[in-house]
Amino acid sequence: MIISMRKNAARAEIDSVIQRIEDFGYKIHTIEGEERVVIGAIGVGDTSACLEALEAMNCVEKAVRISAPYKFVSREFKPGRTTITVGGNVHVGNSEFVVMAGPCSVESEKQILESAELAAKGGAKILRGGAFKPRTSPYDFQGMEEEGLKLLAKAREHTGLAIVTEVMSDNDVSLVASYADVMQVGARNMQNFALLKALGKCGKPVLLKRGLSSTIKELLMSAEYIVAHGNNDVMLCERGIRTFETATRNTCDIVACAVLRELTHLPVILDPSHATGKRSLVPALSRAGVAIGADGLIVEIHPNPQKAISDGAQSLEPAQWLDMMKSLQPYIELWKAERMSTVAV
Ligand code: PEP
Ligand code: MN
Repeated sequence: MIISMRKNAARAEIDSVIQRIEDFGYKIHTIEGEERVVIGAIGVGDTSACLEALEAMNCVEKAVRISAPYKFVSREFKPGRTTITVGGNVHVGNSEFVVMAGPCSVESEKQILESAELAAKGGAKILRGGAFKPRTSPYDFQGMEEEGLKLLAKAREHTGLAIVTEVMSDNDVSLVASYADVMQVGARNMQNFALLKALGKCGKPVLLKRGLSSTIKELLMSAEYIVAHGNNDVMLCERGIRTFETATRNTCDIVACAVLRELTHLPVILDPSHATGKRSLVPALSRAGVAIGADGLIVEIHPNPQKAISDGAQSLEPAQWLDMMKSLQPYIELWKAERMSTVAV
């Protein structure tokens, strides 16, 4: 159930509603908006009786049953959009189209500092770079781990860019959270429930990537884990899924961006790099991401992709990255105009 309080309801009224819901045996989760508090009630109980009791309370505007299996992340729960503040001054899911860019892996100080400068020069607001790498082969480079996190922090100091980096295990959540501005959950970990639960308490926004063979519903259920465990700041990422097609590394389910915007209030980010595996395809897919109304992109770039330790083939060359960002501008302007005309839709 979702219970919307009347505008500017008093604290005591909110507490009395929470008490009433708990008396019916439900657990609650609140979202405090500027004008209104919305309460989610989860659990097993007599929903009809509870809804009736709540609707009889003057301070309750609306109490409804939510049919989706994912509750807190559904649009039924929150008809508006979630805006996530990253590193203090970047707002994802707002009237800003946010681009995250950087190498697949942090490889050295020189490489990450050059990448960060390049990312900033192109207009990215967030630097990506993996310090913990989920590799298909155990013999491949596994990442620089804490040393890599330190280099990312150095790159942030140099450029002012926020940092998004992957966390692979619940054991590493507090370590990664002490450096990162956004915690990335890789496709291979989308259903690592221990990790998702730990991220509920990490205090940092999360970028949750869609699993290689996961449905949109499963992606939303994984986001629900993080929110239900206390963290409302989740961005979803379409990064391509596995199909019978072999021309691209993955098959980009581009319409998933639009589907997600219908089903959830959480921001949606497109990863055109892992979706294609091929740098020549990244600019076209990025344009598609802007056009379909994604909230941002996460793009792999490298100062010298030929020398990249991982994902060189899909990493943009410096000039190609700068060109792409320039050529995306007119599309981003249209995107912004549309956002301004559909505020809170
Ligand atoms: C990555 O971002 O480098 C990565 C490993 O992505 P994914 O989890 O989507 O494969
Ligand atoms: Mn990669």
